[in-house]
Amino acid sequence: MRVGIGTDVHPLSADAPCWVAGLLWEGEAGCAGHSDGDVAAHALCDALLSAAGLGDVGAVFGTGRPEWAGAPGVRLLGEVRRLVHDDGWTVGNAAVQVIGNRPKIGTRRREAEQVLSEAVGAPVSVSGTTSDGLGLTGRGEGLAAVATALLLPR
Ligand code: MG
Repeated sequence: MRVGIGTDVHPLSADAPCWVAGLLWEGEAGCAGHSDGDVAAHALCDALLSAAGLGDVGAVFGTGRPEWAGAPGVRLLGEVRRLVHDDGWTVGNAAVQVIGNRPKIGTRRREAEQVLSEAVGAPVSVSGTTSDGLGLTGRGEGLAAVATALLLPR
């Protein structure tokens, strides 16, 4: 078995659509970025790649693969699942925690878990927390996520 970790941070912008944990959050400030800025999906990608020893999102979807520029986080997750699978692993489970004031993850937790679990092909737990007013997440300047993943040999 192999475990991995992943983190992601993006700045929040009132103009950007808010994609978090595979869901569109209407009326919320979203994350600006090269893709949809989904910190939860990106952190999960990094956790899966980390567990398999395949590097990170920047290396896998970087300048060498322009076809993935701007791809939704859930699509990136599907591709990472394929890469991990091709490397001889199956996903046991994964977990992601979103750190920020808004959106309120708990209000749509089950829905997010369903979308992300489908993308990963294994149970994904989703949770949320705040940083108690401290730092960039506490000031509402950005959103962060931390993820873990467990891989089993195929
Ligand atoms: Mg990102």
